[in-house]
Amino acid sequence: MPGKRPAPEPPEPLAPLIDAHTHLDACGAEDAESVAAMVDRAAAVGVGRVVTIADDLDAARFAVTAAHWDPRVYAAVALHPTRANALDDATRAELEKLAADERVVAVGETGLDYYWPGKLDGCAAVEDQVEGFRWHIDLAKRLDKPLMIHNREADHDVLAVLLDEGAPETVIFHCFSSDANMAQACVAEGYVLSFSGTVSFKNAHELRDAATLVPDEQILVETDAPFLTPHPFRGAPNEPYCLPYTVRALAGLRGQDPTDLAAITTANAERIYRLPR
Ligand SMILES: [Zn+2]
Ligand SMILES: [Zn+2]
Repeated sequence: MPGKRPAPEPPEPLAPLIDAHTHLDACGAEDAESVAAMVDRAAAVGVGRVVTIADDLDAARFAVTAAHWDPRVYAAVALHPTRANALDDATRAELEKLAADERVVAVGETGLDYYWPGKLDGCAAVEDQVEGFRWHIDLAKRLDKPLMIHNREADHDVLAVLLDEGAPETVIFHCFSSDANMAQACVAEGYVLSFSGTVSFKNAHELRDAATLVPDEQILVETDAPFLTPHPFRGAPNEPYCLPYTVRALAGLRGQDPTDLAAITTANAERIYRLPR
């Protein structure tokens, strides 16, 4: 869990980078000042912009506010699949309004999480998750914004619901954690795969294989901070400034120059999220 080990030392700078999926609030940012300080730490090592993601309604309000405080911050809003049971009419109405904000660049994270039901008190049941996922897919299409997927142990059903509902033009699998078969299926559908610190874990053999077969145009990089701190800092608190560790590990797997991979993923993030260059 975050917080048990000291914060990782800052990596050698690697620029330009965009953290495609992070949670500034869960990292401890509370106000304009602490958001700016967190992005300053990231910018000092080349991570000039971040997309902060909401997983409940409070986090959605915070993400949109943070994106208005700091021009280097963009937002994505949704109810996390494990919270899909909170998607009542009032919540839908407020999420719709938040998602339409000009600083919101994606609808997410939504999708399916088959790991937590039965283990976590209050976790949404699978039926509620599917219903919530369908609603977010429709919202992304109506707003013409990318859909950001959270998929945990639900490869088959995530693809099936997307196919059945009709996928939005842009679909991003955040923290892609599946194997080469799933990566191939996603690539064939034109989906985007975003890789986090887990690709730097030496025992993640299937994921590391998957990372090698994603075309340059379909790849993003993210921290998912404060979780999933890259090797060799596993267990320490993660923050957007740690992204260069992951990009260097991913570049090594793919046989690419880290500077080239940084430029490729930044151009992709600008195109996918429609950010100014
Ligand atoms: Zn997630
Ligand atoms: Zn996340």
